[in-house]
Amino acid sequence: FLKSCSTNGFVDYNSQQVFDEHDDGLKAKQRAKALIGEALRARVESIDHEFCEPGEEDTFFVADLGEVYRQHMRWKKNLPRVKPFYAVKCNPDNKLLELLSALGTGFDCASKAEIEQVLKLGVEPERIIYAQPCKTNSYLRYVASQGVRQMTFDNTDELRKIARLYPGAELFLRILTDDSSSLCRLSLKFGASLDSTDGLLALARELGLNVVGVSFHVGSGASDPNAFLKAVQDAHVVFQQAAAHGFCLKTLDVGGGFCSDNSFEDMAGVLRVALDEYFPAHSGVNIIAEPGRFYASSAFTLACNVIARRTIQDVSSNSYMLYLNDGLYGNFSSIMFDHQHPVAKILLSGGRFLYNTPAAEAVDDNDESGIEYSIWGPTCDGIDRISERIRFAREIDIGDWLYFEDMGAYTKCSATTFNGFSNEHEVIYVCSEPGAKALLGL
Ligand code: PLP
Repeated sequence: FLKSCSTNGFVDYNSQQVFDEHDDGLKAKQRAKALIGEALRARVESIDHEFCEPGEEDTFFVADLGEVYRQHMRWKKNLPRVKPFYAVKCNPDNKLLELLSALGTGFDCASKAEIEQVLKLGVEPERIIYAQPCKTNSYLRYVASQGVRQMTFDNTDELRKIARLYPGAELFLRILTDDSSSLCRLSLKFGASLDSTDGLLALARELGLNVVGVSFHVGSGASDPNAFLKAVQDAHVVFQQAAAHGFCLKTLDVGGGFCSDNSFEDMAGVLRVALDEYFPAHSGVNIIAEPGRFYASSAFTLACNVIARRTIQDVSSNSYMLYLNDGLYGNFSSIMFDHQHPVAKILLSGGRFLYNTPAAEAVDDNDESGIEYSIWGPTCDGIDRISERIRFAREIDIGDWLYFEDMGAYTKCSATTFNGFSNEHEVIYVCSEPGAKALLGL
């Protein structure tokens, strides 16, 4: 059919290829859902809710490492010139780091503990960038002792500190970006403005330091691809300024900010074109990036138990407040710190396992059959609310389970133990990609 419609065999060949890839993608997603569902079911069904010990019904994650593998393939396809240095802060899960290490990524670390964790995996110091423009003195001495040379700076005080503690470091000048379209703005805190970069490069030269590159970050969860274009243009200006000071910069670090949803392809498209224009392959400049949420977000599903319920009686219909065993002070810290809106789905209700079925999903506001819920965390604080208002077609009761997808980024890493609730939750690993399994020796 395709051939008979075609004016040109090449177009047909491409569209056929796209179709096949899409089909493979769908199959992989189905495979992943089946594995995640099995893991969720086995764990939840293993709990005797009437007699279990405290903690046995705790919230838990299912992580699909195959999803991380697919994201890496997606990255390579869209940004083949850009080597990712995974931002460990986003989710320092050791198995996730192990897989990324096996895939050959680098790592962006911001503290001694992160650097130590990555080095322990056997990652070479050259694959680490200490991407924190304002570093702790003792951490600087530590990285010097470990041979981690690459690091960022954005101000004169930091340059003087580095000159004193680690003059042999390889420095990236982090520049300011327009991050107004991002979820988490970073330029309020970090980044040198373009009118200060010349002075910083002059001081670096005077102090005998080794500036090797420029870095930027367009803000975490960025939504305007043009922020990348502008930042690449600015970085190009700084490369020229550096050359005038006698530095031969060899690396551009385009930071993080990439989302894992469909916006990634648009974002990557704009970045690719900008790089090809301002830093073409023949310029010899290496391009690296520091993606975090792009790799981690979609790989983790969180399951939570309904520990309590309050019925709100109304003349026409009841609504309910549901209390879960996880909340804003726990793995839903992403609501507070990362401006996320996690969406609840029903995992187990009235003994029925509903994962990945239409019955698991919330219904429309105007769906008459819907019952209204608000969803709360377990602490005594009134701000500990996960969802103000959501409707499901079923009644949800104490002992039922809900699940939340896309819970891998900036969740468990910023969970606290407030009110005595544990922040160490089980992670059950599955792997829906044979390629990832092979790398991990599974
Ligand atoms: N690099 C730096 C310096 C950051 O501060 C962050 C996030 O705060 C990241 C990378 C990762 O950003 P994202 O998860 O949006 O990719």
